[in-house]
Amino acid sequence: MAFGAGHLADGFGRRFRYLRLSVTEVCNFRCTYCLPDGWKKTAPLSFLTPDEIARLIGAFADLGLAKVRLTGGEPTVRKDFTDIIARTAAVSGVGKVAVTTNGWNLIRQIDSWKAAGLTHLNLSLDALEPEAFQRITGHDRLVSILTGLDRALELDLQAVKINAVLLRDTGERGFEDWAEFVRHRPVSVRFIELMRTADNLDFFNQNHVGGGVLRDWLEQRGWTPVDRPPDGGPAQEYSHPDYAGRLGLIAPYAPGFCDSCNRLRVTARGKLRLCLFGEGGVDLRDLLIDDDQRPDLIERIRGAMSGKRLGHFLAQGNPGDLGNLAQLGG
Ligand code: SAM
Ligand code: SF4
Repeated sequence: MAFGAGHLADGFGRRFRYLRLSVTEVCNFRCTYCLPDGWKKTAPLSFLTPDEIARLIGAFADLGLAKVRLTGGEPTVRKDFTDIIARTAAVSGVGKVAVTTNGWNLIRQIDSWKAAGLTHLNLSLDALEPEAFQRITGHDRLVSILTGLDRALELDLQAVKINAVLLRDTGERGFEDWAEFVRHRPVSVRFIELMRTADNLDFFNQNHVGGGVLRDWLEQRGWTPVDRPPDGGPAQEYSHPDYAGRLGLIAPYAPGFCDSCNRLRVTARGKLRLCLFGEGGVDLRDLLIDDDQRPDLIERIRGAMSGKRLGHFLAQGNPGDLGNLAQLGG
């Protein structure tokens, strides 16, 4: 039942129909740029239950939500993850159900996720050589992950994309390897500029490189920018007539990056975060106990929107209070 049909907008005229929901803070990888020492338990693991998730998404759907991305930590370490996909996909109005995963059990689970209603898959994959992959993630799993990716590509999902963090030593060799990878695979590989967080200043200073390096490399080799759909994400993708897939860039430090922001985030403990690089959050969990609370939940979400700022202050060296992206899901 829709209690509060309407839409969600901020004071700058931006509309929000896309929610990134973290379902856990736990992660089994140790990516150098995110959790170099691995995930450490700092609080009881009381993450949102499937019932709470269904209530949360139901309220956002009344406010016009069309797409949910399930993220983490590593969302797929949850034993009830397939059920979470199914509960999300069952909410009326939510046509797109996406997951961002490191792919550790993709090959075993992708068929059941698709059957449960998954429509979009983002695989985070930073290297195509087993040694480099192990150096970055702490795990020797590349072959199984690539097999899982190929299975995902067979499944007729609406989109399968790869995200790779752009690091100083990615270099031209990395771009060439990835171009070769997409020559016959219809998949988009998007490089994300390394982002500064509260915990990674030294790593950031040593490894951050501006996206212009990739842009120049692509343009010099005949790759051309693809038009971005009005409600598309922040990635600028490039295509080339000789390649089945695309390469792209997500450049959060570029001027105007936040102008078309279309997403909100909720933490695994039920806090609404208006910006990845903001502070604090608005607690929603006390309103996820019972279906009858939905009108109050909707009012709280609506009320929070006045706090959304025009942009982040990353370029000014202020990453907000987020220690690492595993706490919120990127
Ligand atoms: N564990 C899942 C995964 O890796 O796909 C989901 C959570 S992870 C935090 C989401 C995305 O954030 C990944 O694509 C990861 O590469 C990216 N990420 C993490 N830390 C980052 C940083 N400091 N700068 C840029 N991207 C980062
Ligand atoms: Fe885990 Fe994802 Fe962070 Fe890697 S990027 S440590 S997989 S949360």
